[in-house]
Amino acid sequence: MEDKTLVCQDCGKEFIFTVGEQQFYKEKGFDNEPKRCKECRDKRKAARRASREEAPAE
Ligand SMILES: [Zn+2]
Repeated sequence: MEDKTLVCQDCGKEFIFTVGEQQFYKEKGFDNEPKRCKECRDKRKAARRASREEAPAE
């Protein structure tokens, strides 16, 4: 495994999907790669908390 460079679908910036994160995804059984950089994920997390809604799986 090696780090992957992905493009955030929200802000369009490149971000690194690290080996550690890939392993984490695998452990959790996620098939998909992350679509957003950490910054945008954090933003969405904050918004999610604010709305107290269950977010759809990514
Ligand atoms: Zn982003």
